Amino acid sequence: MSQMEIVDEAHIESMSDIIVTGKKVSVIGAARSGVAVAQLLKNKGARVFVSDSGSMETLAAHIVRLTSDEIEYETGGHTQRVLDADVLVISPGVPSTIPIIREAEGRGLKIVSELEVASWFCTAPIIAITGTNGKTTTTTLVGRMLHDSKRKHVVAGNVGTAFSSVVHELDASSVAVLEVSSFQLEHIEMFHPRVSVLLNMTPDHLDRYGNNFAKYIAAKCRIFENQTKDDFLIYNYDDIEVREHVGRLARLHVHTLPFGIERQFDEGAYVENGKLVTMVGNDRTEMVETEQISIRGIHNLYNSMAATLAAQMMHVKTPSLRATLKNFKGVEHRLEFVREVNGVKYVNDSKATNVDSVWYALQAYKEPLVLLLGGRDKGNDYSRLNVLVEKHVKAIVAIGESAEKVYQAFSSKKNVVRAISMEEAVKHATRLAVAGDIVMLSPACASFDWFQNYEHRGRVFKQIVNSL
Ligand code: ADP
Repeated sequence: MSQMEIVDEAHIESMSDIIVTGKKVSVIGAARSGVAVAQLLKNKGARVFVSDSGSMETLAAHIVRLTSDEIEYETGGHTQRVLDADVLVISPGVPSTIPIIREAEGRGLKIVSELEVASWFCTAPIIAITGTNGKTTTTTLVGRMLHDSKRKHVVAGNVGTAFSSVVHELDASSVAVLEVSSFQLEHIEMFHPRVSVLLNMTPDHLDRYGNNFAKYIAAKCRIFENQTKDDFLIYNYDDIEVREHVGRLARLHVHTLPFGIERQFDEGAYVENGKLVTMVGNDRTEMVETEQISIRGIHNLYNSMAATLAAQMMHVKTPSLRATLKNFKGVEHRLEFVREVNGVKYVNDSKATNVDSVWYALQAYKEPLVLLLGGRDKGNDYSRLNVLVEKHVKAIVAIGESAEKVYQAFSSKKNVVRAISMEEAVKHATRLAVAGDIVMLSPACASFDWFQNYEHRGRVFKQIVNSL
C-alpha cells in the first residue's frame, strides 16, 4: 500500500502530518514523555502502540492517559509487536542499548527520539541547549528572559515538561526553549534549532557511552548538524573540546557566536572592564556589570552569557535582558538562597552531586563558608577541593554514608564535625557560623543514603533551615 493510500485526510494539516498520518508507530517507554509523544502522534492520525518494561502498578498514572486516548499498550516487557511498525520512538529515559532497540536497528527500522517527533510539529523557532553542566540553569534563564519581555514561549525537554505535550501551544511568533540531553540527540534526523547552545563537554555521564568520550561528544554535536547559515550556534570558547569540535564541524555551515571570559570576540559575548558585553553584527552592548548578575559563580557567568546571546537572537531588548540578569533567582537546589538567620545566609546546593559542582560552588562566594559535605560517595577525590577549602571554608559538617571519608580528607586542615542526620548537621552548622558567614549544603555526593533523590535532600534541608 502506498503512503497516500493509508493517509486519513481528515487529520492532515501540514506536511509534517503526512510523515505520520496512518503510519504504525511504536513508542518505547510509557512514562511522561512516552505518553505525551504517543498522544501527539495519535492526534496526528498515527496508529500508535506503546511498550514499557515496567509493571502496570508503577505506570498506572500514565496508563490512565493512554486508555482515555484509546492508545494500545503493553507493560512488563517488550514483545515482538513493537517491531511491527514504520517508526520506533524512544522516550528520553530509555537506553538505546536495550535488546528490542538493537533488534529494531538490525532490521533497519527508523528509530527517532521524542524530541525529534515533537520538532516535526513545531512551528516556532527552537532554542536548544545542551552541555554536560548548566543545561537547566541556562534553559530556565532563557525562559525567564522571554517571559520578562512578554514573549510567548514554552520551556520543555529535560526540564520536566515533555516537548510533545506543549508543542501544540506554539506558533511562528513564539519560541520553544528546550533543554536537550545527548541521549535525545542520538536519535534525531530533522531536528533543526534556530539557535543551538553548547555549554561545555566534560567526561561525565559516560557510562551510557561505554566510557567512550568521542561518542558522547559526537552525540552532543548533533545539536547543530541540521543548522544552516541562517541559524546560530552559541558555544563556549573557553571549553577546549567545544571549541575544537565547533571549529572542525560547524563553523562553515552555521553562524557561530562564541562566549568566554578569556578573550574578546568580533562577535559573541565576553567580559570587558568587569562588564558582560555582547557583540552581534556591529552592535556592541554593555549588558551589566558581572557583579550585578544575580546568580553567583563563574559557571553562572558562562550560563548568563549563553542565555543572553540566545535571547538576543530572538530580539529580546537590552533593558529587559538587564532586568532579568539582575533579578533571576536561579533554579531550585542550585546555589539556592534559602534564608538569612542572625546574619547567617543559608544556601541549598543539593544538586551538587559531584566534586566538580562543589568546586564551582566554593568559588562563587567571598564570605566564609560552613560546608555540609557527604552522602553516597561515587569514588570522590576530595583533594581537588583543597585549595578552595583552604581559602573559603571555615568548617565542614560531614554527613551521610561518606562522613568518615570526608572527615579523613579534611580534618587535618579544618574543623570537621560529623552529623548523623540532616537536623543535626544544620544544628552543628548554625553553631559554627557567625553573622556574615554562609552555611551551604553542597554535598559532592549522591543522596540515596538518606534521601530519595537530590530534590528530597534539598527540601529537607530547607525545611529545617526554615524552622530555625
Ligand atoms: P544540568 O541541567 O546540565 O545538570 P544545572 O543547571 O542543573 O545543569 O546545574 C547543575 C550543576 O552543574 C550546578 O549545581 C553547578 O554545580 C554545575 N554547573 C552549572 N552550570 C555550569 C557550567 N556552565 N559549567 C560547569 N558547571 C556548571
